Amino acid sequence: MTWHENIEDFGKEIAPDSTFRFECRPGLSCFGMCCSTEITLTPYDIARMRGHLSMDTGAFLSTYCETYIDPLTGFPFVVLKRREDGRCVFLGNHGCNLYESRPSCCRNYPLARVIDEDGKTGKRLIKYCLQQEATYCEGLGRGPDWTIGGYCEMNGLGPYEKANDLFLDIPFTFNRLPYSVRQDREVQSMVFEAVFNFDRFFEKYGRLPRIAVPKDNHELIVLVRSIALNLIKKIAHLKLKD
Ligand code: SF4
Ligand code: SF4
Repeated sequence: MTWHENIEDFGKEIAPDSTFRFECRPGLSCFGMCCSTEITLTPYDIARMRGHLSMDTGAFLSTYCETYIDPLTGFPFVVLKRREDGRCVFLGNHGCNLYESRPSCCRNYPLARVIDEDGKTGKRLIKYCLQQEATYCEGLGRGPDWTIGGYCEMNGLGPYEKANDLFLDIPFTFNRLPYSVRQDREVQSMVFEAVFNFDRFFEKYGRLPRIAVPKDNHELIVLVRSIALNLIKKIAHLKLKD
């Protein structure tokens, strides 16, 4: 199974030590064109964005997102809605209305972080791809030379990568369930609620006094991960008994 942040074309793999030129600045004629691609959200992205908007995940997801099921793996995923002109729902006249809380894949662009799991050892393999085909993007191949690390640091990706790496244990574990279980609508819906609609999930099951919902977004993802992995374990146990 492979996880990447952008379900559309995400470019060609580049060596970890390679550099690339990129410069995005106001006034370019391509302004906002990059905000017409499909933007996949991780739970940490959702936590940051819904916090920025002072909403809970239920309201955020129904107002700004579309949710789908990956037909191959059965795992749910969430993308940002687009306006009628195909641009992202958060694109304003002067750029991203949610710039400080923009999601991981917007921060990474023109890079994409692609993660594979070695089928035999279970080891995570992280690679970076560089968008090279987006002819509309005037920033590609211009401006300063960036290393992958330097570019990610400039875009504040540290906390995102830490939380997203934790989250990835969930789809990779889910993918080990038998195909018939992964395609079960009830299972998909439960997993979606626990992983992406976590505020509502906690509200529903928060009667359990043992669950103290952290205010810190990273701690929140630690809790979401632990609950989702337990849920998958229970599902495997129950469904395989049937
Ligand atoms: S979230 Fe912001 S940066 Fe990302 S696609 Fe939407 S408008 Fe563009
Ligand atoms: S240079 Fe590229 S990233 Fe910047 S606004 Fe234009 S299309 Fe978007």
